[in-house]
Amino acid sequence: MHVFIHVDADPDHSSAYSMNVMSPTRVPRENIRWHGLLATLDYFRNISEKLEKLGFTFRSTFFLRADEQINRLCGTYAETFVEFYDKITRFFSVGWHPHLYRWSEGFQCWYQEYKDAEWASRVLTDSYKDLKSHGFSVRFSKMGWCFHNNATMKTLSDIGIAADFSAAPGFKSPGYLEPGRSFQNKADWSKTCTRPYHPCESNYQQHGGLKILEIPQTTYELGGPIVLLYTMKLALKSYVSFDFSYFPSFRVRSPLLLANLVKREDFEEIRKLIKKWRKEHYVTMYLHPEDMLDVNNRLVFEEFIHRLISMVSEYDIKISFVDALGLYDRVRAWSI
Ligand SMILES: [Zn+2]
Repeated sequence: MHVFIHVDADPDHSSAYSMNVMSPTRVPRENIRWHGLLATLDYFRNISEKLEKLGFTFRSTFFLRADEQINRLCGTYAETFVEFYDKITRFFSVGWHPHLYRWSEGFQCWYQEYKDAEWASRVLTDSYKDLKSHGFSVRFSKMGWCFHNNATMKTLSDIGIAADFSAAPGFKSPGYLEPGRSFQNKADWSKTCTRPYHPCESNYQQHGGLKILEIPQTTYELGGPIVLLYTMKLALKSYVSFDFSYFPSFRVRSPLLLANLVKREDFEEIRKLIKKWRKEHYVTMYLHPEDMLDVNNRLVFEEFIHRLISMVSEYDIKISFVDALGLYDRVRAWSI
């Protein structure tokens, strides 16, 4: 069983919050903190050493930010790559995590731009070009808020991204609005299958002819009370933001193996998954750097890994920790 643990390397939550109301005309570089990122890197090295003693090689990918917000607040699109690429790639690999944050002059805040396709394509293309001109050639992406639309998917495919890891099959979030401050977290993967696929140009959720490979975060379904609670929370959010398209559900095909959702009682769900494991299944978990500053989250994370290892060996299944390239190489053969 392949396990793909990756990091959406956003700045620390506290600074990300202030970033979102920070005017790009000021230069608040020192206000954007990456404490969590460096701490997670150290922590993952520690995990690597522990796992090595158990006979496992731990691999992971850190998806770094390069987008309009980073460009306007930090000076270049490639700023985070310049700062962290070498540090990370001594041990792990690096991918690209673009957020489609756009500055609103009217509201004086950053918001998720999901309508203006031309703007989104330009930002992605310019970010990619700037990374290239700084000597960074990225092959793998994970979008901010897991968001995609037809334009962003086609753009990533056209500029040469080999695989994208944003799809969360079954997941749909209307996004939430904090009036005058921010709108974000909109994504729709409600019609996506749980199998790696080449997206269709006119429908990013379905398979078609684009060159890029979309690798969903799950290849299986989970159900039960935890799923109901989770989707009820999303439904309530959609009600609050006057989008009535979301309904609570007992079953979703979304990535529930996130650090903040893996509680001890969820291991039964993982056991069910392992019991019906086939070679096309893999497990993903993603986290945000600041999560790992919390001792409790570290405990949950380590327990997740150890329980996974012991449950897998119970069913005589081999486990391997893969990074973005490792997963891409393994799933290409059975993609559609
Ligand atoms: Zn993010």
